[in-house]
Amino acid sequence: MTQFTEEELALGRQVIETCRELERRGLNQGTAGNISIRLAERKEGFLITPTALPYDLMQPEDIAHLKLDGARAGRREPSSEWRIHLDVMRRRPEVGAIIHTHSGHATALACLRRPIPSFHYMVALFGGEDIRCSEYATYGTQELSDRVLEALEGRSAALMGSHGLIVLAPTLQRAMALTVEAETLAMMYLRAISAGEPALLPADEMARVKEKLAAYVAQSAPRPPAAP
Ligand SMILES: [Zn+2]
Repeated sequence: MTQFTEEELALGRQVIETCRELERRGLNQGTAGNISIRLAERKEGFLITPTALPYDLMQPEDIAHLKLDGARAGRREPSSEWRIHLDVMRRRPEVGAIIHTHSGHATALACLRRPIPSFHYMVALFGGEDIRCSEYATYGTQELSDRVLEALEGRSAALMGSHGLIVLAPTLQRAMALTVEAETLAMMYLRAISAGEPALLPADEMARVKEKLAAYVAQSAPRPPAAP
């Protein structure tokens, strides 16, 4: 049996609390979706929700630990989407937390294979002119991870074709806020395209907004824990 450190147990509790908040807000149900958080003290991996365990039964000791070399620890198997979490944590050092959901509006767009374009200025919060939609691949496969990472290039969110939504952030708290924002934008975009053809903002305006939002976020966001 693996001994969990105080850091792992504390972060595990944060992960469970975030899972329950996703459920309370109607962003995830049952065992759908998964969350990971990078270990700050020892930069050797991250914690990830276990596979097939309902959120209301989850205990901090159930959270799985994955090292960046892929080695596993913990009493439960990691989420079936551990490859995406591992690949993002390896290739995107700025990412401290990842939230994957099957939230209704974002998933509806993902099933239509419709990226979210610059119909609203807040789309720039995710790093560019749009939130892309990845091609479909079977859940839990390396192929899905490759396609999702492609769609995430230069972005902090992507729709996953016929599957759901993924959001990356420096902290878990920020990832939660961005998940709510992405789902809200998906809802607004679905309503807009149901009623007509929304106007799209030009690239230079989205670039301007992206800079303004980055300055705003830097001022208002709580600081992530200092790196060792
Ligand atoms: Zn999923």
